[in-house]
Amino acid sequence: MLILMHPTATPEDVEQVATKVRDLGFTPHKMPGAQRIAVAITGNPGPVDPGFFAHMPGVFEAVSISKPWKLVSRETHPHDTVVSLKGPNGTASRLGGGVFGVFAGPCAVETREQTLAAARTVRESGARFLRGGAYKPRTSPYSFQGTKLEGLKILAEARAETGMPVVTEVIDPQHVDQVAEYADILQIGTRNAQNFALLEAVAESGKPVMLKRGMSSTIQEFLMAAEYIVKGGNYNVILCERGIRTFEPMTRNTLDLGSIPLIKRLTHLPIIVDPSHGTGDALSVPALARAALAVGADGVMVDVHPDPSKALCDGPQSLTPAIFASLMDSLRAIAQVMKVELV
Ligand code: PEP
Ligand code: MN
Repeated sequence: MLILMHPTATPEDVEQVATKVRDLGFTPHKMPGAQRIAVAITGNPGPVDPGFFAHMPGVFEAVSISKPWKLVSRETHPHDTVVSLKGPNGTASRLGGGVFGVFAGPCAVETREQTLAAARTVRESGARFLRGGAYKPRTSPYSFQGTKLEGLKILAEARAETGMPVVTEVIDPQHVDQVAEYADILQIGTRNAQNFALLEAVAESGKPVMLKRGMSSTIQEFLMAAEYIVKGGNYNVILCERGIRTFEPMTRNTLDLGSIPLIKRLTHLPIIVDPSHGTGDALSVPALARAALAVGADGVMVDVHPDPSKALCDGPQSLTPAIFASLMDSLRAIAQVMKVELV
């Protein structure tokens, strides 16, 4: 159920509606919109009688929401969510609502030199956000597991120097506070896409979250995972399509670009595409990054390494700085055609 308020409704009117929702034993969520505020209701086991609200002061209409992912659905919030980020020195970045964001950097933070070199080069080519994993969830326990706290400190240094907000993965609810201290955006990786305790913990952190699609998640499961974070009061969620597991082994994952227009219709949250993890193949990444922009995604995230042949993690999918620079040129050209802002 969604209670649409009149544009002239007062804060007291809205609070009265919220109180009524609480009195009924449910949870109200105030959703500010461009023209007016709405109050979404969750926690109701079945339909709520619109008659409870229809005649309250300031109420325009009470409508039921058909989707189980209530708070992330466009029915609840018709306008695009724009995620705003404050970088170092008060710089601000936006993503969504016609602003396309490029996230780039190494798969893993290996050394200070490697990360700073990657950060400088992607910034110079026009990336807006720096990516880099400090805590690495690896399939094999014998693979490089990341530089952890040391890596977070290196990312913070790269952030301070380049002015780029940083996204990095958090793999354990116990690390959320530590990662949130250094990062601007907390990444939930594909392997934790349905780790509900972790989703609740990042919701509580109040930091913007980048939620990757589980490698076997349906679109519904993906949106329900996002719902966990938004239900926790954190609306700054960026979805990320990174490929799903299908019967095809030659492309590592199947990058589901066909899901993007549908997801854009179903949810107000921005969605970006990670063609690096989606294919595992640097030769395929530029074409799919361009396709992601053309298909309506709000951003891309690509692995860039100063020397991919020496990468400790995901070298075969990492772009060289030169290839990344030429990818940025082609993205700028497509952005013009698509009439989206790529700054
Ligand atoms: C990553 O982006 O570093 C990563 C591990 O991605 P994914 O969770 O999509 O495999
Ligand atoms: Mn990786």
